[in-house]
Amino acid sequence: MTDNHQTDRSHPPQGPLAALAKELPDWLETSRIQASSGRVASYIPELAGAPYNALGITVLDGQGVSVSAGDAELRFTMQSISKVFTLLLALIDHGEDGVFTKVGMEPTGDDFNSMVKLEIVVPGIPFNPLINAGAISISSLIKGATPKEKSERVLAFFRDLAGDSSLAYNEAVYRSEAATANRNRSIAYLLKANRVLEGDVEDVLEVYFKHCAIEVTCGHIARMALVLAYDGTDPLTGRQLIPRRYVQIAKTFMITCGMYNASGEFAIRAGLPAKSGVSGGILTLVPGRYGIGVVGPALNDKGNSTAGVHLLETISQAMDWSIF
Ligand code: GLU
Repeated sequence: MTDNHQTDRSHPPQGPLAALAKELPDWLETSRIQASSGRVASYIPELAGAPYNALGITVLDGQGVSVSAGDAELRFTMQSISKVFTLLLALIDHGEDGVFTKVGMEPTGDDFNSMVKLEIVVPGIPFNPLINAGAISISSLIKGATPKEKSERVLAFFRDLAGDSSLAYNEAVYRSEAATANRNRSIAYLLKANRVLEGDVEDVLEVYFKHCAIEVTCGHIARMALVLAYDGTDPLTGRQLIPRRYVQIAKTFMITCGMYNASGEFAIRAGLPAKSGVSGGILTLVPGRYGIGVVGPALNDKGNSTAGVHLLETISQAMDWSIF
């Protein structure tokens, strides 16, 4: 773990990024104190050993200049952050009509792994693609003849977005979740009974658990977020990786339900589209300007990184980044 603030020295930051680089180490250390009130997720046993008071951030701009601070090199699994990108791949595979007959567009107010509405709200499709039920349905929509082929397509897509051909999933975290996922398994079988889920349930879960276990650093998350900040085109290569309309859909979900049941609060305090995961990662972005990756494994009672949320709210308010 490193505690130093680092910048991309080949292109020293200028303008607002230079101002950020100056303040960031202090803001990060102030936010890190918040970690002591959080708890590392342990329902996936392999996640329980993460360093609870780690905190790292990378902010990357469209010219490739980045500013990092704290434990930005810490490796962590994407968990729910990956759901944004499997949604995008399913939209590329099936279009809006194909996806939104299988999953809805509304926040739930329930926990991320709840199945209660699948029973009581007709027609029993998940409320949105970012809760577990929705993301499991999305996994069933990814094209490919076998679970292996589907997972390879997901990985290839994520590698393009992260600009790193060595991106891979963490086998130990994948196995740990697959061996203990009684709730997700229940959700998947209920979805199968509701005729929402296509294909073999265990095959679908394999694709889902594997994309949750893709291992990244803050730099990878910042690069993936940068593509969203630039409406689907990677500004560093000029390649269009995702149609603009689908990015618009993903960013709207990030605002309305990307931060679990604290999405409204985060929208008010930070004002940025974001998605968090149980490993303590947060992906966020400033449209047309920055992609941002954060990690802080200790979670608050809503399931978001307690220090990570504090840090992002501090930065966004100080730099006037809110989109609203
Ligand atoms: N793999 C995790 C699960 O299904 C992802 C949850 C999350 O990050 O919110 O429980």
